[in-house]
Amino acid sequence: PTSKLPHLGTTIFTKMSKLAHEHKAINLSQGFPDFSPDPILLEEVTRAIHSAKNQYAPLQGIFSLRQTLCYKLNKLYGSNYQPETDITLTAGATQAIFTAISAFVKAEDEVIVFKPAYDCYEPAIELYGGKPVLIQMQAPNYQIDWEEVAAKISSKTKMIIINSPHNPSGKILQQKDLEKLQQLVKGTNIIILSDEVYEHLVYDNQKHFSVARFPQLAERSFITYSFGKTFHVTGWKLGYCVAPKELMTEFNKVHQYNVFCVNHPMQVAINAYLQNEQHYLGLAEFYQQKRDLFLSLIKDSRLTFTPSQGTYFQTASYKNITQEKDTDFALRLIKEKGLATIPVSVFNKNQQDDSMLRFCFAKKEETLKAAAEIINKL
Ligand code: PMP
Ligand code: GLN
Repeated sequence: PTSKLPHLGTTIFTKMSKLAHEHKAINLSQGFPDFSPDPILLEEVTRAIHSAKNQYAPLQGIFSLRQTLCYKLNKLYGSNYQPETDITLTAGATQAIFTAISAFVKAEDEVIVFKPAYDCYEPAIELYGGKPVLIQMQAPNYQIDWEEVAAKISSKTKMIIINSPHNPSGKILQQKDLEKLQQLVKGTNIIILSDEVYEHLVYDNQKHFSVARFPQLAERSFITYSFGKTFHVTGWKLGYCVAPKELMTEFNKVHQYNVFCVNHPMQVAINAYLQNEQHYLGLAEFYQQKRDLFLSLIKDSRLTFTPSQGTYFQTASYKNITQEKDTDFALRLIKEKGLATIPVSVFNKNQQDDSMLRFCFAKKEETLKAAAEIINKL
């Protein structure tokens, strides 16, 4: 049979984590914490599993959690999402992204994607016959060139995908960026898909500019979130999507047939845990300390970097160390030095190679110290 995605192999995350395991390397590649979630959250899970919440949840997710999440969003971003119609719990942000794209993108539609980009956007667009229109942001600042965006918008543009805080660069969009976007889509039918899985991981007292803060953007936007990131439980694969009713109605038509609903007891547990807002508002400080520790440990190395503004990733240039391609260097680092990272070119347009690696700092102090020892000898 012919492949629908002939150009695709296995994701870089699968590849790198597998190699890290085989070579017993310290794994700063795939983004996941190497420490346990809060025991209070785990107790809530035990409670939920023992309280007869083990059958199907409602299609959109349990109502109490939808209420809690809409309340949280409306409080943080001044939005007006309604738990009855505007939110659906999903199997991680990945399923939310896939579902939003599949509900709207059809043959010949164009979808603007900013590169470097997280890897799940383009395959979904292509599977439904759409065309990713790629706009490269340039290292090391990774600013969006809004004039280029204006030039690339056409009558075929169905969707624009944005991601802030941004994986892999760690950059965050500023108010002026969202205002520019708002200006560009005014009077069009373009849908925005805003991937905000790192909403709580924003550093140095900066602010997360959710599209939910901008009513004229929110009215045309899907926003995707992930509990994996917020509660150190990437293996639970639970997230959610919000959008105005008309968009969510179409989203749910797909959702009901590709999963129907997601894990019920975990939703009960998360709802209980979310009642204490410190459980998510304290996250920025927690991860900023990890970023600062990692950067102070490698400050005298031959890597060059500017501190990540958000996410739990730090990118750095190794131009002072070697001329090797980033994919080659990353492989050699695993095999010869015992450190796994992600070569940033895999996320770039035409695999543009800027000699950058991505390091995940969602790790215990001892892991970061052991990684820094290797980095400082490069
Ligand atoms: N978007 C971005 C930018 C990500 O980094 C990730 C990775 N984890 C996801 C979406 C997917 O999130 P989830 O694990 O909840 O599916
Ligand atoms: N989001 C994670 C990262 O960027 C990986 C998730 C995955 O393995 N698909 O590292």
